[in-house]
Amino acid sequence: MAKRLYIDGEWVEASGGAIPSYDPATEEVIDEVGTASQTDVDAAVAAARAALGTAEWAGLLPVQRAALLFKLADLIDANREELATLETRDQGQPIGVSRAVSVTGAAEHFRYYAGWVTKIQGTTNPVSFPDTLHYTRREPVGVNALVTPWNFPLMILAWKLGPALAAGNTVVIKPSEVTPLTSIRLVELCAEAGIPAGVVNLVTGDGATGALLSSHMDVDHLSYTGSTAVGRIITRASADSNLKRLTLELGGKAPSIIAADANIDAAVAGNIMGSVLNSGQVCAAYTRFYVDKKREQEFVDKLAGGVSGMTIGNGLEESTQLGPLVSAKHLDHVERLVRTGTEQGAELVTGGARIDRDGYFFAPTVFAGVDDEMTIMRDEIFGPVLAVTAYEDADELDALIARANDTEYGLAATIWTRDIATSQRLANGIKAGAVFVNMPSIPDMTAPWGGYKASGWGREMGPWAIDAYTETKSVWLHYGD
Ligand code: NAD
Repeated sequence: MAKRLYIDGEWVEASGGAIPSYDPATEEVIDEVGTASQTDVDAAVAAARAALGTAEWAGLLPVQRAALLFKLADLIDANREELATLETRDQGQPIGVSRAVSVTGAAEHFRYYAGWVTKIQGTTNPVSFPDTLHYTRREPVGVNALVTPWNFPLMILAWKLGPALAAGNTVVIKPSEVTPLTSIRLVELCAEAGIPAGVVNLVTGDGATGALLSSHMDVDHLSYTGSTAVGRIITRASADSNLKRLTLELGGKAPSIIAADANIDAAVAGNIMGSVLNSGQVCAAYTRFYVDKKREQEFVDKLAGGVSGMTIGNGLEESTQLGPLVSAKHLDHVERLVRTGTEQGAELVTGGARIDRDGYFFAPTVFAGVDDEMTIMRDEIFGPVLAVTAYEDADELDALIARANDTEYGLAATIWTRDIATSQRLANGIKAGAVFVNMPSIPDMTAPWGGYKASGWGREMGPWAIDAYTETKSVWLHYGD
């Protein structure tokens, strides 16, 4: 088996068995990775621990550390086409999305956090003790495990690795076993950029390998993006081991509210982008649509017309707007949940079935007349499935807010209205980490990203991610007698 674990600056073979990587557009095996064992994970964590205090890493001046991240961003740009193609082959996203969102997004993220390296600072504080200087130091948390999902593997890894390295940490990356290839390539680029041995380590494997990290006694912080179910398991593992710090970016079931005064064409275009980008395999995808009864029919017709006119195909084809789902297993999951829609009495307006061709393709699907209690309104589907319901009394915004909040999740929401007061009352009332008004959901490196309720703990992006990867030490210096 190929050497696919990166430990202490060396590519080594995993001790455990092979996991194939499929092209979801063709169902062909395109590569394989090994399963890291306890011994492999221990070696990676030990390498990360040892690298923390070295002259080559801890001894770097902030400007020197920043230069490494700028170099990494340049290398990502230089290898843009290769990375984008690899992401599309491994994950299925249309090549335009791979280029613009995944690869360019990753490069920009490293550049943004390169800028942060020289700006991580403490404060002096007016403590109530005489003749005392009090100040804070921002120190790296230490060894960080970065456990990532399959839906945007390169970009989500960049969200974590950028701030982790900016703050002087070391890491052990565990990419999803479903889409590990761009993470492996990114680690090669880290080495090429000159990031010292032991600072960035990578282990491959499935959830069992992830579990070795979440229960590890020498991991200080685990940053996880993935399902809420696994988030709960990781939380228990942290509690039962060394109570490592956790950052959790979990599932979502984002509502979209379309008021009577909304620009319906803009709302349809924005909601299509916000709901079926990457075939709906987006944590913040809009899946529950609450439309003012007066505009319901128009919205449903235009939404269904918009998604059914999309070009579906292999993501490598430039014309593709909608690629496959990531795996056969995920296709089964989406199909099963869609079936509950018709079984429970929702009106299937378009789509509703897998597409008869090679690859894991599912037709973009719109349900109307959906009831708040139906499974398609409650469970995270993570596919191109949109459920529309109506609200009748526009004066009862509190009731609408209660319906939008009637979910265990709280990651994102969108509101479409021209009325400022309505938009503000809804934005303030909805319990979600990000609320967008008259625009689709677009994460940005300068704005916090994370969830309320079962959508997670903590925030990524901006200075909030620097908080996640630093400890704040309080130093008291008494200079009186
Ligand atoms: P997943 O939970 O199945 O897997 C995510 C990662 O966790 C993988 O690397 C996997 O190997 C690992 N893992 C699995 N079991 C584990 C265990 N017991 N201990 C430790 N690690 C384990 O999630 P997925 O299916 O890859 O991703 C889809 C989910 O991710 C969706 O729920 C989606 O909403 C969520 N997501 C959230 C965000 C966000 O920003 N909130 C972003 C993207 C995806």
